Amino acid sequence: MHIQVHRLLPRTRMAGVGVRFCIWVQGCSRHCPGCMAVDTWPPDGGFPLDTEELFSRIRGTSAIEGITFLGGEPFEQAEALAQLACKVQAAGLSVTTFTGFSYEGLKTGADPATTRLLAATDLLIDGSYQEGLFDLSRPWVGSANQRYHFLTKRYRPSDIEGIPNQIEIRISPDGTAFLNGMGNFAKIKALLAGRNGGIYL
Ligand code: SF4
Repeated sequence: MHIQVHRLLPRTRMAGVGVRFCIWVQGCSRHCPGCMAVDTWPPDGGFPLDTEELFSRIRGTSAIEGITFLGGEPFEQAEALAQLACKVQAAGLSVTTFTGFSYEGLKTGADPATTRLLAATDLLIDGSYQEGLFDLSRPWVGSANQRYHFLTKRYRPSDIEGIPNQIEIRISPDGTAFLNGMGNFAKIKALLAGRNGGIYL
């Protein structure tokens, strides 16, 4: 089974508790206005990666707390992600999953793969980004409607209290910059573009 991947980032502190291996999945049919990840929308973009190969890469990454699925829409690839998430949890690592769907909607749906991915998620962050509710006061999210659901005992609300929203900028030798995290991307890109036109997000 394979996952259609937009981007991998083996180590970052910008998407959940601790240092995490981040997997941006490719494909999202929701098309929220103001979405900061429009490159992840086409389901045929990115690249396919076998779940076993990805698990091997995760296991080969030292000192990580867990993995994070974001996108794109993880629940549009629920079967493959659930398979990977189960292996990751069995290896003692945690799973954080972002989704544009509501937890209630996912729970009441009849899709068994969705149920399996929920069962293999420790921390679910739900709700699509809403421009009119822009709010950077909580970690890793950009609008006030988004919620944290602690689906296992791995984390508690106190584990995320006081964690600020942050952005990291990674610059490749060719001068391309990659912004990761949550913040006011329009302002940051405008700021950086004034000094370097090669901004990629
Ligand atoms: S669900 Fe997320 S990735 Fe999909 S359009 Fe909305 S904000 Fe963008």
